[in-house]
Formats: sequence, structure tokens, C-alpha cells
Amino acid sequence: MASDDWQDRGACRLLPVEIFFPPAEQEADEAKAICAHCEVRQPCLEFAIAAGERFGIWGGLTTQERRALVAARRRNRARQAQSDELSPTFTG
Ligand code: SF4
Repeated sequence: MASDDWQDRGACRLLPVEIFFPPAEQEADEAKAICAHCEVRQPCLEFAIAAGERFGIWGGLTTQERRALVAARRRNRARQAQSDELSPTFTG
């Protein structure tokens, strides 16, 4: 898949954009329900994270949920790096 052709397959492509930019994160249920059945949910989410999107529902997650996911991934990477450091290395 080309890097941006997922956008042409989004379940939101023919819907009013306002649905995905609700006035409050608590009003994201309609967008989340659409995203839940979208075939390009993962690339959409990764695009928003990589782009640092500060507004809107992307990949079914609100801005706060994306921030929490990024923080959790960061913690997991740090934990993994720490675990790798503690593991003995066999050089053969
Ligand atoms: S995951 Fe949601 S915002 Fe992303 S393309 Fe699909 S419907 Fe649109």
C-alpha cells in the first residue's frame, strides 16, 4: 500500500468531518463507532501519532487517548531496553 492511499479507503471519507472533530472528547462516540469498523484504522492511527495530530479522532482514539498510547509505548520501550541490558549476551 502506498503511504497515503489508506486515506481513500477510510470509512469517514464521505462523512461530515465535524463528526471526527467533536467539541469535547466526551462527544466522540459517533466517530469512535465509525472508526471501530474502518479497515484502515491502524494506518490512520499511526499517521496521526507520527504527525503529532493535536485535534480530532484518528484511528478511533481521541487526542488524550493517543497521548496515553504514545506514553505507554515509550514506557514499554524503556522497560524492554532495560531488560535487554540485564540479559546476558552470548557471542558464540
Ligand atoms: S479510522 Fe476513523 S478517522 Fe481513520 S480513516 Fe477510518 S474512519 Fe476515518
